Amino acid sequence: MRLGAARFVAGETLDECVPVLRTLNDAGLRANTTLLGEAIPDAAGAAATVREYEAILDRIAQEELRANIALKLTHLGLSFDKETAYANLERIVAHADRLGQFVRIDMEQSSFVESTFEIYQCLRAAGHENVGVVLQAYLHRSPADLERLLPLTPNLRVVKGAYLEAPAIAYPEKHDVDNAYVRLVERALSGGAYVAVATHDERIIRHVQAFAEREEIGRERFELQMLYGVRPALQRRVAAAGYTVLVATPFGPDWYPYLMRRLAERPANLFFFLRNILRR
Ligand SMILES: Cc1cc2nc3c(=O)[nH]c(=O)nc-3n(C[C@H](O)[C@H](O)[C@H](O)COP(=O)(O)OP(=O)(O)OC[C@H]3O[C@@H](n4cnc5c(N)ncnc54)[C@H](O)[C@@H]3O)c2cc1C
Repeated sequence: MRLGAARFVAGETLDECVPVLRTLNDAGLRANTTLLGEAIPDAAGAAATVREYEAILDRIAQEELRANIALKLTHLGLSFDKETAYANLERIVAHADRLGQFVRIDMEQSSFVESTFEIYQCLRAAGHENVGVVLQAYLHRSPADLERLLPLTPNLRVVKGAYLEAPAIAYPEKHDVDNAYVRLVERALSGGAYVAVATHDERIIRHVQAFAEREEIGRERFELQMLYGVRPALQRRVAAAGYTVLVATPFGPDWYPYLMRRLAERPANLFFFLRNILRR
């Protein structure tokens, strides 16, 4: 943490995370939180994750925070058994529903994409409305996935994509990903979805705002989402302009893979990280 993870991670415990969520709320920002962890190898570990998320949801309600949760299905067992992951997620979603809260299913490596959408579709078929999923713009399959989801009037977060994928599966070039991103958001908004536009790309944010205005799509149909520690001034500026902004604010002792993805996204972060190491 002291080496630099604290810039992107709101502590190792829920007690450390709660004041961070409150500070964000006080600044006019919504939040979601995630107990960091992925690729849990056994049922006991996945069951422990469920208990932790139930406690997080209870605490958010108790503290009256404007926050929800986002979780990874491999943290609930998807790496070894899809049925286990489904049952665990359904328990969390039902618990959240009782508290009037929402659950976002993060999207992981391409090998988990199909089973993640299947689990989402099963949950919706079982009548759960307080759940949303993620589309990764870098994947060639995402436009088809969007068409498959639109009949459900889904709550979709659109991201560029954070994992290293082969060119057969994902666009390797940034400008192709950026173009695909804009096309997905426009189609999702026109197709009736609620869209969480999750990016720090100012050009894309301005483009989406102008598109919504031109197409007379109300601000209640979409929100902007950014990561804790990334472009905080932009987060506040967009919120001050009257848009809903949610800051994804993870916590937990297993922060290493998350931090590595943030460092990989931006070489400057690596210098920030190294500077902290040298200062010690
Ligand atoms: C709320 C949220 C949820 C996400 N959920 C998922 C998910 O479920 N699955 C998934 O695969 N990916 C997820 N991501 C990550 C996403 O896929 C991208 O890797 C990440 O957002 C960086 O892309 P960008 O859209 O910000 O655009 P980029 O073009 O990468 O960046 C635009 C600008 O933003 C700034 N910036 C971007 N990243 C950083 C950084 N790490 N540190 C400092 N500045 C930065 C820089 O100024 C950069 O020039 C999520 C991102 C957000 C914001």
